[in-house]
Amino acid sequence: MVVGESGLGKSTLINSLFLGDLYKNRQMPNVEERIEKTTRVEKKTMDIEERGVRLRLTVVDTPGFGDAINCEDSWRVCTQYIDEQFRQYFTDESGLNRRNIQDNRVHCCLYFVPPWGHSLRQMDLDLIRRLHRKVNIVLVIGKADCLNKTEVRKLKERILQDLEDNHIQLYQFPECDSDEDEDFKQQDRELKASIPFAVVGSNTILEVAGKKVRGRQYPWGVVNVEDPEHSDFIKLRTFLISTHMQDLKDTTQDVHYENFRAQCISQISQHALRERGKLKRDSISSTNGFDAAISETDRLLLQKDEEIRRMQDMLTQMQEKLKQTHLMEMKKNDSVIDV
Ligand code: GDP
Repeated sequence: MVVGESGLGKSTLINSLFLGDLYKNRQMPNVEERIEKTTRVEKKTMDIEERGVRLRLTVVDTPGFGDAINCEDSWRVCTQYIDEQFRQYFTDESGLNRRNIQDNRVHCCLYFVPPWGHSLRQMDLDLIRRLHRKVNIVLVIGKADCLNKTEVRKLKERILQDLEDNHIQLYQFPECDSDEDEDFKQQDRELKASIPFAVVGSNTILEVAGKKVRGRQYPWGVVNVEDPEHSDFIKLRTFLISTHMQDLKDTTQDVHYENFRAQCISQISQHALRERGKLKRDSISSTNGFDAAISETDRLLLQKDEEIRRMQDMLTQMQEKLKQTHLMEMKKNDSVIDV
């Protein structure tokens, strides 16, 4: 999921990351339209190939995010979408055909922060606070070529401090295995040190020193998107579709989905308890006195008990009669012998 206000370079970055053109027919709203604009969710699917492995990637864009004067609905659209995907998965998982579930859960949310602020804005904090327990959030400083090296470092430090002060936990990068080789460990250390990623995107291919690169041409030179000295673009790409893709999915399953599932189950059991209480109350109010407290089953059982008791009485009476007839006959026989 890609979240951030318009013009921060989201579409350009997604196209650069996955070497596609996902935004061919994009229409830009004018100023008047933006005032009342609501946030939408747009899903786009693309097939990418990474080191011989074909991946089907779904990019969920949220055009209109933060564009309207009132941004209240912006975060609601995002949280609702994430919850809907969890709910669908929960329903599918409880169904019969559990083997072929299509997993549409959001495994990563790239949240774009503008390069021109001094740190996170209240609006950013509000949204991140609402999302951080539902999805793996990865912060990205867009259009990082607007900042020099010192400015990038300072902005990153202030963002991290803001997150700490507000007790917000973004996606936690896992510890590197101790038996990994030194190169991998070094790459992992550099990756962690770069958070939040400061990125530059471009859909233009330029020729620099005889090599074709994705870059931005300025009067004073070229920003090479893939040069680690210019931006964290390559680190973000490697993180997303290579080194951490599986961990993002595992964290979604083990942490965020489990939270959602636990909430669902507790809601279902609370609902069942309430329904039972309601049924009991209904049956009590429908009858009076002692019988009123007895449920339908109990009443049937009592009826049967009563029937059995009556039959036993009848049986005892019949036995008594038989006994008396027998005695009378014996007396008759005795008197006949006497005669
Ligand atoms: P979106 O609305 O967030 O999807 O932003 P776009 O990708 O449509 O970009 C808005 C404008 O910013 C376009 O003119 C892009 O060419 C430009 N742009 C995109 N990425 C960058 C970047 O990394 N640096 C700079 N300086 N401009 C960028």
